[in-house]
Amino acid sequence: MKNRKVFLAFTLSLMLSAGTVLTSCQKEAAEQTADTEHDAAVTTEAVPEEEDADDYIPPVYVECANEEIHDGKLILVNREYGYDDSFNANLVNIYANKSDNYTVDGSTMELDRDMLNAINTMLDDFAAKTGITNVIANSGYRSFEEQKQMYDDDLEATGLTESELVAPPGHSEHHTGLAMDFAVASGDGYPALKNEGEYKWIYDNAHNYGMFLRYTSQNRHITGYMAESWHFRYVGPVHASLIWKMGVAYEEYIGFLKDFEFDNALEYRHSDTEFYRIYYVPADLDSDKTEIPIPYEAFGTGADKWEYDISGNNADGFIVTVKIPELSPDYDDSYLYLFNSNPELADYQSPDEEEYDDSSEYADDTFDSTDSSAETEETEAESSSEGNIPDSEGEAGW
Ligand SMILES: [Zn+2]
Repeated sequence: MKNRKVFLAFTLSLMLSAGTVLTSCQKEAAEQTADTEHDAAVTTEAVPEEEDADDYIPPVYVECANEEIHDGKLILVNREYGYDDSFNANLVNIYANKSDNYTVDGSTMELDRDMLNAINTMLDDFAAKTGITNVIANSGYRSFEEQKQMYDDDLEATGLTESELVAPPGHSEHHTGLAMDFAVASGDGYPALKNEGEYKWIYDNAHNYGMFLRYTSQNRHITGYMAESWHFRYVGPVHASLIWKMGVAYEEYIGFLKDFEFDNALEYRHSDTEFYRIYYVPADLDSDKTEIPIPYEAFGTGADKWEYDISGNNADGFIVTVKIPELSPDYDDSYLYLFNSNPELADYQSPDEEEYDDSSEYADDTFDSTDSSAETEETEAESSSEGNIPDSEGEAGW
């Protein structure tokens, strides 16, 4: 859904005075529309007059096909919600596009372009800070076929009819291209990345680059998977930092956002200068399309028009993220503490990031629950006996 903005700025400016506008969510359809209307587009009316004395300007509606709930950076993929591969991930080759400050397992692995850029920047900064360059991008995008192979291998190895370890094909977050497993090249082989020593920096800062740790011992009762200190998910810095500050599982986060619709959107102070409005739009089940309300200010020709993004949640609707110039006077960020009130989570992710330092104990035990450490050891043992970079078979599909 990336290039939609450009088109909208171009086409909608001529239609805004008519009030509510419908246009397409899809880039291809949008471009077609732009072609057929290019004559009319010349007669652009820049900024419409506010015809009502009222300050209220109704939103502009962007029409999305309901199936597009399966597309976008925020899709939730888990045991319940599988990945719809009719929406091609925006994959690039890691080896050809990575920075010099880490290595990748093999030359054919792929990843979402935005996530790869985020990893490049993060590990460049990590190397600048610590001098460490031995992190390995160990497992990125996986096709359904690769996942099926891993799944079948696990069934064969265990004799089970349903794997307890490997996500079934279609339900691995790795299908999205928005997940990466990290390992470390050390004298002991290639163990999974862990939140310890200098590597703590990655765990404390990944959210600034748009990534978060997907499976922790604190959220395993929600995700249904054991803690994985190596598996990071990309959603972009705005949502990753919110997830980090709130200390929520991704399943909880997607559920939480459903409380906020266009007229009572969540506001978020991302930094001293960056503010966002985030809201959920349920898919219109009476139709095969959903009209997504977008603030009027996101359209027009001025440099100050608001930026926005629409992503499906892969479950039942869309999440809209709008960058706004200022917060409401009654902005209240107490929601950040809703989930952190859980004492287990509070130990792990304090909302006050400045409290973190090397002596902090907030995450020392995070990946050391009996089950997860056993699992990690299995991965390590396997890899060192084979003498090459682990292929994630031990942690497999999630
Ligand atoms: Zn993984």
